[in-house]
Amino acid sequence: MEFNRLISNVEPSKSVTLLAKTKELQKTDPEILNLTGGEPDFPTPKAVCDTVVTELAAGHTHYSDSRGDADLRARIARKLQEENHAPYQAENILITPGAKYAVYLTIRALINPGDEAIWLTPGWVSYPSIVEASGGKPVAVHLKYEENYRITEEALEAAASDKTKLLIINYPNNPTGQILTESDIQALTAFLRNHPDVYVLSDEIYEKIVYDQNKIVSLASIPEFFERVVIVNGFSKCSAMTGWRLGYLACTPALYQVVLKLFQHSISCTSGFLQRGALTALDCVEETEQMRQAYEKRKNLLFEGIREIPGVELLTPAGAFYAWVKFDTDMDSETLCNDLLDKAKIAGVPGIAYGEEDCVCIRFSFAASEDVLRTMLERLKTYQESHT
Ligand code: PLP
Repeated sequence: MEFNRLISNVEPSKSVTLLAKTKELQKTDPEILNLTGGEPDFPTPKAVCDTVVTELAAGHTHYSDSRGDADLRARIARKLQEENHAPYQAENILITPGAKYAVYLTIRALINPGDEAIWLTPGWVSYPSIVEASGGKPVAVHLKYEENYRITEEALEAAASDKTKLLIINYPNNPTGQILTESDIQALTAFLRNHPDVYVLSDEIYEKIVYDQNKIVSLASIPEFFERVVIVNGFSKCSAMTGWRLGYLACTPALYQVVLKLFQHSISCTSGFLQRGALTALDCVEETEQMRQAYEKRKNLLFEGIREIPGVELLTPAGAFYAWVKFDTDMDSETLCNDLLDKAKIAGVPGIAYGEEDCVCIRFSFAASEDVLRTMLERLKTYQESHT
């Protein structure tokens, strides 16, 4: 039996596979430090859980509006206007089961067979896989470690063709922790001016996890591009709600109509009582800020610690909760990851999983306690001292 060729040919997600494999290994070897996952180690704010208990008691357990809870969509529109300076209204918002499904819907709604979508590497692996499963062609722009992964207009232009339909960006970035700088924005806007038919998928899921008083900018706040930007965001990372599967997209009406049709025929609606929890989450400003501060402390701890270790370098993260560590080694990133797991019992994700082919990097999540991170630094030091 020949199954769907496009989907059969897609690679399984390396990070999801590694997270599951490491959790399995930890059952027999609890000493393993699992730094593979993109999962906050904080509980969901209590007020969010309380809201859902009340909703359940009130019996709000049936199908709901397929676009999403009206109050939640209005509240997200207000947030996008006030915080991101993007003039969306409630009718521009679709609530989805996780940001990942919002990415999926956007790509499916935009890509015809043979269309190309540009994505930036190192980057989140689901983008090219979803493009491929949709019959499109992902075209990678390889940003460079030695240039701090800055975007240039030349690199974007080199990836463009008359088939380019979409540009996918993700800032704060998984895995590098970079945010958009002034020069990145200039490169992106110059490119978009040159290609007036190209849409942008802007995945802003780590937007509240930003360090050192850095400020983030959404391309949707630039009036000239507003019509062409689709914002994707969600509750997994900034509200510690990974298991709730709640995200959203915001786009202009013509695309919304297409996205909604696919959504209605595949999902119908996102759970109504869980969405009431998301409404509460948007007001849990203090809890989100406390988590951000904890991540910032951990980021500083790692930064200081890694400076003491020979043969490794940490690209300072401006946001998200990942340490992108470059190793001076002859091994490739996958072999190195296996060796680190074997000898130091530290589990990270190899840079190759994010398309980094020029240098050897590993992504370590610091959504882990300071104690775990201190142990990781000690073990990494011992490992490096015996390997350099
Ligand atoms: N986008 C990026 C860049 C991510 O890193 C992740 C999760 O790892 C997602 C989207 C998916 O988030 P969600 O849990 O809301 O589907």
